[in-house]
Amino acid sequence: MKASAFSYARASSVVNALELLEAHGDKARVLSGGQSLMPAMNLRLISPELIVDIGELAELRGIAVRGNVLGIGALTRHVDLLRSPEIAVQAPLLTEAVAHIAHPAIRNRGTIGGSLAHADPASELPACMVALNASIIVRGQAGERRIAAADFFKGIYETALLPQELLISVELPLPRPNSVHFFHEFARRHGDYAIAGLAAQAVVENGVFTDLRLAFFAVGDRPVLAGAAKKLVDVAVTPAVLSEASTALSAELDPQDDQQASASMRRHLAKVLLARCASALLGRPDLNAGGSP
Ligand SMILES: Cc1cc2nc3c(=O)[nH]c(=O)nc-3n(C[C@H](O)[C@H](O)[C@H](O)COP(=O)(O)OP(=O)(O)OC[C@H]3O[C@@H](n4cnc5c(N)ncnc54)[C@H](O)[C@@H]3O)c2cc1C
Repeated sequence: MKASAFSYARASSVVNALELLEAHGDKARVLSGGQSLMPAMNLRLISPELIVDIGELAELRGIAVRGNVLGIGALTRHVDLLRSPEIAVQAPLLTEAVAHIAHPAIRNRGTIGGSLAHADPASELPACMVALNASIIVRGQAGERRIAAADFFKGIYETALLPQELLISVELPLPRPNSVHFFHEFARRHGDYAIAGLAAQAVVENGVFTDLRLAFFAVGDRPVLAGAAKKLVDVAVTPAVLSEASTALSAELDPQDDQQASASMRRHLAKVLLARCASALLGRPDLNAGGSP
């Protein structure tokens, strides 16, 4: 199938893109890498009247440490995240996660801003932003807003972004001493969207979590920052403590059935991920002895 007829405008600057979005409102769509927008248009799931192409705006690209944050421009491509030495040092969770996004051809075009604005609940990057406690910076003609990643994702393909706004960049706090991370996803094949996944960032001191952010994906309508993590912080994690956290996790998840997996399978996989994560980050094989709690 082909997309419905649409008009095309190549934005010459962020200001110009915002003028076009303001003039056309929800009849316009931003084009970054096109890896989600174009398939959706070709399937006629959406039929915007105007495409605002921001792909040439160099001001939206780049990765740099500024003070105590790592800034990443919205147009930074998945492949650039994967290869960046700054990301490898300051946010290695991202380096690991990006390798699971699709395939090289898609990673060469797809952008972090596009992935976050698209807000597929099975995507890796939204969950990483929640785990890393990122701020998402959006701009409209009225000015800029900073939105905590945990508040940005509102549902399946829904975010706090308004039709007249552009996602400009993200900022990640630099890692604290003794920071560790965990990433794993279950998928039919490497590169497929996840059936269930977990992106986690933690601080471990003397064998104890002093901070733990667990962001599950593909198990709800948005990334889930698990409240169950609190049960594992500032305590000696025994199998009994882990089992309590696992029960709490199960109660807070609301996974859906689809062609890939049932809700109960997703719930089970999330519990397996929790056990693997605690075991790996604490260096405690006994916590994952049975393979699943
Ligand atoms: C076969 C295939 C497999 C894939 N597998 C995965 C996978 O395993 N994991 C995964 O996470 N993704 C996967 N993707 C999606 C891919 O990662 C996309 O690149 C990403 O979701 C969107 O990035 P983009 O730059 O291409 O955005 P686009 O397609 O250009 O845009 C996506 C949406 O975001 C909006 N948008 C884009 N940029 C901005 C901005 N700066 N401000 C405001 N709105 C904006 C657009 O208007 C559109 O609604 C897959 C895609 C394909 C085709």
